[in-house]
Amino acid sequence: MQIKVLGCSGGVGGNMRTTALLVDDDVLIDAGTGVGDLSLEAMLKIDHIFVTHTHLDHIAFIPLLVDTVMGLRDIPVTIHATDEVIALLKQHVFNWHIWPDFNQIPNRHQPFLVYQALAIGQAVTINQKQITALPANHVVPAVGYQINSGEYSLVFTGDTGGSKAFLDAINAINHLKYLIIETAFSNAEAVLALRSKHFCPNTLANELQQLQGKPEVFITHIKPGEEATIMQEINANPITQHCKALQNQQVFVL
Ligand SMILES: [Zn+2]
Ligand SMILES: [Zn+2]
Repeated sequence: MQIKVLGCSGGVGGNMRTTALLVDDDVLIDAGTGVGDLSLEAMLKIDHIFVTHTHLDHIAFIPLLVDTVMGLRDIPVTIHATDEVIALLKQHVFNWHIWPDFNQIPNRHQPFLVYQALAIGQAVTINQKQITALPANHVVPAVGYQINSGEYSLVFTGDTGGSKAFLDAINAINHLKYLIIETAFSNAEAVLALRSKHFCPNTLANELQQLQGKPEVFITHIKPGEEATIMQEINANPITQHCKALQNQQVFVL
């Protein structure tokens, strides 16, 4: 199993793409602007999209992806998300005003888009990939995901300010090989980070201090223009000095 980063920035412009991870060739974890770099052939292979939360940087390309592939596929694209996230997508995105309701097109019995609700802690298995929703702590309903090959796991936090529930969940994982964790803001913006429920380097260190395993840790969702400052602050702290910035197009093998 392999996981390829299609986008890992907190913004856009130049080479920056917002959050999306491609698991093998058939599963997306979030569908930010990085999805737009895929060829049509690659887009046609995506059968499942697991959504962490409904902020635009994580869902921006779901409507455009479905619109692009509809009619060229034999089976619908399945969106996996919690009940709250599905309700928000239906109400605010696929509502005929922002975008057509592809759950009703071409008809409600065989639509181009279907929803599959998942609960925190629930594992879904797709072609030998076991994907489990983990608790996140963000300003809107949010989850992270554990991707388990059967041998090793990678955890992606999505957007979160951290919580005991999340720590308990990842400390219970055996063979956690990689942790992709967000740090959106620098320490100078600690108040903003707290309010918007993102990490800054200081709160990241508090969180990782309680991590029991020894996964390789990669930082994602860094605010554009602050990459050097944020990584400098992270690497200056003994608790987080081993963390590396996640790179677009980086590939993890599990
Ligand atoms: Zn967010
Ligand atoms: Zn975000």
